[in-house]
Amino acid sequence: MRKVIIAGNWKLNKTIKESIELVNLLKRSLSDIDEVEVVVCPPFTSLSDVHELIMDTNIKLGAQDVYWEKEGAFTGEVSASMLKDAGCEYVIIGHSERRQYFGETNETVNKKAKAVLKEGLKPIVCVGEKLEERKSGKAFDVVKDHVQNSLAGIPASDMLKTVIAYEPVWAIGTGVNATKEQAEEIHKYIRGLLEKMYNKEVASSVRIQYGGSVKPENIKELISEEDVDGALVGGASLKADSFTQIVKNSI
Ligand code: PEP
Repeated sequence: MRKVIIAGNWKLNKTIKESIELVNLLKRSLSDIDEVEVVVCPPFTSLSDVHELIMDTNIKLGAQDVYWEKEGAFTGEVSASMLKDAGCEYVIIGHSERRQYFGETNETVNKKAKAVLKEGLKPIVCVGEKLEERKSGKAFDVVKDHVQNSLAGIPASDMLKTVIAYEPVWAIGTGVNATKEQAEEIHKYIRGLLEKMYNKEVASSVRIQYGGSVKPENIKELISEEDVDGALVGGASLKADSFTQIVKNSI
């Protein structure tokens, strides 16, 4: 039985004060929810403060990126052990915005995922095609390339701690979500890839989130699909009301 996981990716938003305000509201609205795993992913600067506030709740903390080295002369980077120290349990890796603007590749995603797992943290590995790729019939090939190469060499035991987020780039921040059928077809395909790469147990245990314009109004039908195990939420995670409704509507 896969537990639904809803994660809020705050991206480059929220000062420390704003993060505290938002998480205090979420504590009130989500404190009695345990049917769904709820994760918030603030910017690095807010991680410790948010952690202090959610320590005694069932809300979990995630980061939006990581570097694969443990320490050293890598100006501007943050390691998995530093994220663990700040209270993180999850780390988003390979978000399409990082692939698009910061040169993230399957190879760097793979190194980051391995570094995160080595530290006992759980990666949320993002995969998904661009609009041109979908239009030219390459969505499955792109997803296959992302899944196979981002996860290369990760053992089955670590896959059980890994979450995959299918985020079609054309649906991120556009207001146009994938239909439940479009999401389900790719999620099922990813599960099939996992079965070939690993085994039936891994394929049926790994949680696959959908991401891309998830809102309180569309989460119910997306989550009703057999292979959709949650959501990675951008814009709608920045307001307590909409994120709370998404979590509640996913039960
Ligand atoms: C995201 O950034 O992961 C995302 C899905 O954004 P949005 O929900 O705003 O489309």
